[in-house]
This record gives sequence, structure tokens and C-alpha cells, in this order.
Amino acid sequence: MQTPINRLGLADKENLLMSLMDIIHYLNKTGVITIQRMCKTCVYFSPGSDTTHHFCRLLNQKLFDKDLRIDCPEHVLVTN
Ligand code: SF4
Repeated sequence: MQTPINRLGLADKENLLMSLMDIIHYLNKTGVITIQRMCKTCVYFSPGSDTTHHFCRLLNQKLFDKDLRIDCPEHVLVTN
């Protein structure tokens, strides 16, 4: 896996990361896996858009796609 990933450009690596996070998020939401410490399931997370960055309200900072975490020690699960 590492060799073909190393050959990707930066934009393709970021797209791959976002796609993997979407898959993990979906698998988590549907109960297939129990990983729960990723930004997308955190109360402090504000998702970005085409024109804005993601934001962590705990760290009070913008998060670029490459900064999104899948196992954050500060994570607090969204309950709704
Ligand atoms: S606390 Fe951690 S998991 Fe939650 S939004 Fe901030 S960086 Fe992401």
C-alpha cells in the first residue's frame, strides 16, 4: 500500500485521506466498527465547506484536511 500512496501527488493524498475518513465515519455510524475518536464524530468539530476550513472549537484553530484526526485524545463523542 505504501509504495503506490507515496507516488500520489499531495492533492490526491488529501483526497484519499478524506475518502478513507468518510468510509470510516460511515462504518462507525452503521455500527460496523467502533472507532469513535475521529474529528467527524466530535462535539468540537465544525465541518468546512468549499469556501471555509474545518474548525476545532477545543483547540480554537482551523483544521486543514491533512490535520483531521482519527484517534484524538481530546475527542468527545457527539450524542444526539
Ligand atoms: S478535539 Fe480532537 S477530535 Fe475533536 S475536533 Fe478537535 S482535533 Fe478533532
